[in-house]
Amino acid sequence: MPHEEGQLNILSLFPGEIDVLPVYRRKQIFAWLGKKGARSFEEMTDLPKTLRSELAERYSLSVPKELERQISADGTQKIMWGLVDGERVETALMRYKHGYSVCLSTQAGCRQGCAFCASGSHGFSRNLTAGEILGQAIYCGVEYGHAVLMGTGEPLDNFDETVRFIKLVSHPDGRNLGVRHVSLSTCGDVPGILKLAELGLPVTLSVSLHAPDDETRNHIMPVNRKYPISQLLEACGKYFEKTARRISYEYVIIDGLNDSPVQARRLASLLRGTPAHVNVIPYNPVPGKPFRAPGQDTIRRFMRELAGLQATVRRTLGSDIMAACGQMRSNRQC
Ligand code: SAH
Repeated sequence: MPHEEGQLNILSLFPGEIDVLPVYRRKQIFAWLGKKGARSFEEMTDLPKTLRSELAERYSLSVPKELERQISADGTQKIMWGLVDGERVETALMRYKHGYSVCLSTQAGCRQGCAFCASGSHGFSRNLTAGEILGQAIYCGVEYGHAVLMGTGEPLDNFDETVRFIKLVSHPDGRNLGVRHVSLSTCGDVPGILKLAELGLPVTLSVSLHAPDDETRNHIMPVNRKYPISQLLEACGKYFEKTARRISYEYVIIDGLNDSPVQARRLASLLRGTPAHVNVIPYNPVPGKPFRAPGQDTIRRFMRELAGLQATVRRTLGSDIMAACGQMRSNRQC
């Protein structure tokens, strides 16, 4: 487990790893963190004082520092956090009829370099620890019913910490969020998908497909040169075999690039007969990028061509505060 500066962050630990006695106290401490959102050991008032100071000596409790919170006209919120080493990451809170979803970052920056996305434009700084991923959820200030790993970063490129986060947030003694209420979005890291499949966790897998043919996909997503579409879909098939979870494919629709009826038909024939849901996401503008969303008519036409597939157009949330898909970390100070 990577250490943050100095002591180990207790937010990264499972109850059994919290090295204190008597053993029953571990569960209690874990609940103070994951369930009650304690910000300090002193707050854990039902622990003996000696135990609290022992904890403080042994561990840090790295509460991320809320540097800024923006609230969109549609109720979406975006929080910018300062981490222990001064890195900055963002979290979005999306409000739906059924409650909030918290959209978490797994890395500071991103290595993938997708042409249309803001998250990689300023490079990659480092992986987040499980405690840093969890901290975004614990201290976000709203009750959430879903956690989506769709903020900055490629979660499967930070595999161990991401999986640890999923197990922490779903731990019955902590937040106890159903694993089915966790979605993980990947650009298409095939070995990562296969590794995740082996774990058999019923996480909803979202795959950023964005193009129905290798030529277009190579052009916008470098990962495709390593793992072309056929390999990606094969891995998705294995994921379904192991988890029985239908795959959600994201398709960011971009004017003149991947929005033609021919491409829609190709997409349909690629996914027809597989357990898939397609989420078409109108491109959210990113300053300095030469892309834009197609007009409504083009999107409607594209959707018509997907007849037979389960497909929906994703509502854009939070674009006025640059919290929408692909807009995080577009601001240089982050
Ligand atoms: N690295 C992971 C997690 C990021 S999820 C992944 O690639 O899936 C964020 C989603 O938003 C991805 O599907 C990403 O491709 C998409 N996205 C990126 N830039 C976007 C933009 N400008 N408009 C709409 N969606 C975008």
